[in-house]
Amino acid sequence: MLKLATVETNEDLNKIKEELERTKMELGILYEISNAMRTTLKLDEILYIILTGVTAHIGLGFNRAILFLVNEKEKIIEGKMGFGPESGEEANRIWTQIEQEKMNLEDLINAYKTSDKTIESGFNKQVKRLRLPVHEQNGGLLALGVLDGMPLLLSGENLQKYRDDPVIQLLRSEELALIPLKAKDKVNGIIVADNLITKKAISKDDIRMLRMLANQAGLAVENSQLYEKTVMRAHSDSLTELWNHGYFQYLLQTELEKTKATKAPLTLMLIDIDFFKIYNDTLGHQAGDKALKELAQLLKNQSRKMDYVCRYGGEEFSIILPQTEKKEAFLIAERLRQDIIKLRFCNEGILPQKQLTVSIGLSSFPEDGEAPSELINASDRNLYQAKHQGKNTTCCT
Ligand code: GH3
Ligand code: MG
Ligand code: MG
Repeated sequence: MLKLATVETNEDLNKIKEELERTKMELGILYEISNAMRTTLKLDEILYIILTGVTAHIGLGFNRAILFLVNEKEKIIEGKMGFGPESGEEANRIWTQIEQEKMNLEDLINAYKTSDKTIESGFNKQVKRLRLPVHEQNGGLLALGVLDGMPLLLSGENLQKYRDDPVIQLLRSEELALIPLKAKDKVNGIIVADNLITKKAISKDDIRMLRMLANQAGLAVENSQLYEKTVMRAHSDSLTELWNHGYFQYLLQTELEKTKATKAPLTLMLIDIDFFKIYNDTLGHQAGDKALKELAQLLKNQSRKMDYVCRYGGEEFSIILPQTEKKEAFLIAERLRQDIIKLRFCNEGILPQKQLTVSIGLSSFPEDGEAPSELINASDRNLYQAKHQGKNTTCCT
């Protein structure tokens, strides 16, 4: 027999009304966050949107949140971004400012896009130092989250069990939620959130909202990573995996613009393999390709993090050295040339000098030119000079 549910008291009615209101608000928040995530494919912006959603008053309202991403290749989970005031005073200052300026989610996100990304909070810096293993044994709290794929709410004794875990050591909170991000059933990250300042207990509803947000966030992160991989591939040379010629031109142009604005020096290095035609003609193009790859690897490994190592074309490489004047670049070039002499290439004894060597030409901003083409021409002239002087040498005017 069909039985109709009846609303008996005003209290019941109010409860239903409250629940409806809350659901409406939750849907509104999730809608806003997912819309924001659709406005960009840049990973750092996606991460910022996710964490803003978790911590903003107009979002889920947690005091602090950290986002970790799984690095499949290295089998680790890395701290990528952390949001959170470091003290109650700082929290008050930030929250009051947001309230006074009537900032909504969109305002907060736009403020990030135009902000100076080099200014980082101490908390964010600590988060970015966290690189933890994803092992089944002794993997710690995050590994558990990645391998289990289930949300965790930790407090009291349960939290005590993990007191030596680096994440707990960093947060030092009494209660926290850990929610995995998923894309196609695979965990690709974790959000950890707490309420250190307000001490507000984390409710079932909070966890439910975090889960819904995490489901969308996982997909957004995956999309953005795929996009960034595609962009990297489009800018890379397929044989050597160095930056390709097109991207080299772009980098030189933009680095020169930065250099002019900051009045810093810049040096451009052109490197050409000596007698490479003989190497190829004698040993075949596949052996030539292998030598090109090995040489590229050496250039990449032996260069500084700030330098851009590119394949200019054929058996020619270029390195952009920002904030580097010629004298310093000359020493770097000579060190690279010596490293190449020391590296043993397959059957290099067939070459006239019995070893694979390179010639290098240098030019610097501002003394050799101000435009990219002027610097390339100047490096080229010096490279020609190096060849003329008998190869296996570095020249600069
Ligand atoms: P030099 O010392 O004057 O530079 O003489 P070289 O023989 O190195 O110079 P040249 O420019 O005459 O020849 C460059 C050779 O580099 C031609 C070609 O056989 C080889 N080469 C260029 N690109 C590639 C490549 O992608 N793969 C292979 N295997 N060889 C390449
Ligand atoms: Mg050449
Ligand atoms: Mg050559």
